Amino acid sequence: MEVGSYNPYNVAQSQFDKIAAILELDEGVRELLRQPMREYQFTIPVRMDDGKVKVFKGFRVQHNDARGPAKGGIRFHPLETIDTVRALAMWMTWKCSVVNIPLGGGKGGVICDPHHLSVREQEQICRGWVRQIAKNVGPFTDVPAPDVMTNGQHMLWMLDEYETIHSGRYPGFITGKPVGMGGSLGRTEATGFGVVYVLREALKELGLSIANSTASVQGFGNVAQHAIQLFIQLGGTVVAISCWDQADKTSYTYRKKDGISLDELRSISDKFGGIDKNRARDLGYEMLPGEKWLEQEVEILLPAALENQINRENVKKIAASVKVIAEGANGPTTPDADEVIKQRKIFILPDFLTNAGGVTCSYFEQVQCNANYFWEEDEVVARLDTKMTSAFTSVSELARKQNLYMRDAAYVIAISRVAQAVKQRGWA
Ligand code: NAD
Repeated sequence: MEVGSYNPYNVAQSQFDKIAAILELDEGVRELLRQPMREYQFTIPVRMDDGKVKVFKGFRVQHNDARGPAKGGIRFHPLETIDTVRALAMWMTWKCSVVNIPLGGGKGGVICDPHHLSVREQEQICRGWVRQIAKNVGPFTDVPAPDVMTNGQHMLWMLDEYETIHSGRYPGFITGKPVGMGGSLGRTEATGFGVVYVLREALKELGLSIANSTASVQGFGNVAQHAIQLFIQLGGTVVAISCWDQADKTSYTYRKKDGISLDELRSISDKFGGIDKNRARDLGYEMLPGEKWLEQEVEILLPAALENQINRENVKKIAASVKVIAEGANGPTTPDADEVIKQRKIFILPDFLTNAGGVTCSYFEQVQCNANYFWEEDEVVARLDTKMTSAFTSVSELARKQNLYMRDAAYVIAISRVAQAVKQRGWA
């Protein structure tokens, strides 16, 4: 999923190099942490519904597991690349570290487009992915989860295949499972809610109230919808949402200046987070080009779709009113755009801190699976709030104390914890 000339892996490595220099890390530690420890690339042959065999390409990358088993989602996307997976695996290491959970970083993917696959074909891809990697993943080595265009059903097929291969029950192998089948209550909402817990704390620090704040959002999938839900619940107003239109192969921004209705838009959206444009128009939404979400006069921008969406070409279009950018997506801002945001003193809530609610709840899911005792939803949500708030507080305190940009402060905390683990284990 490289956009234009941006390669997410180069972005992830250059971010790391910058912080490694600030932390004056040893050469060996730098060399170890700036690349994945292990990478797997494999083929997945699937007999399609028309009787022909189609061969899909699968990936799993384990960036670092010094602090605990590798952890990270599996994405199904037609433009997936190994470099995207590498970057995301590295970001997972920093993400688990910044929220201080005992897990490392991994990521996986399959080059495929679920829009054009039947349910049976998707199941075969899931099972095929596990067959190819079953020896190299597991509850104590590497724990996958859902990500873009994968969900609890995909995880359950994967778990079933893993348990068949290993002849036993290993519910801790994978997270994001359906509730009642080893899943945790609150997992679906966790990433989006986590974004808003961090945003709430940031607004408090800036002396702004959610109730008087407006936001513009890119994406209308799992992360975006739950972030919007809690943001509105806390009194905020969302004026614009941008999402992908599968039929027109482009994105559109849907705007209602006095505030969108989440229930209304949910009722006209599909399971991929696409909005029915004709019905949206009928409901009085203005329809603008996709990139217009970035140009709205709001206090908060919430990119929650894909990487590299705020870049050199469009960063200057961000309105003067914007005070906070809460990165719900992974890697939505390119480094050159980040420089502009920093100079403009917009308060950035960096992706690997802001969207860590999902992995935090996945960690809760593992804990519950291991204990074979499942918590009530209130308990999950309360523990999530505590973890996210405390992670935000550590980062913002360091940022203030050392006069660091929020993204740099988050990296300093995350990378120094992993560097310390690597050293303590005697790896470097
Ligand atoms: P999703 O597949 O549920 O939704 C993606 C949304 O992005 C859809 O609404 C789609 O229409 C929209 N989109 C795609 N291309 C677009 C474009 N060019 N312009 C505007 N909108 C576009 O995905 P998700 O699970 O919500 O994940 C979104 C982002 O958050 C990804 O970067 C993902 O890696 C990251 N993330 C997800 C989780 C999680 O728990 N789901 C956790 C951490 C990070």
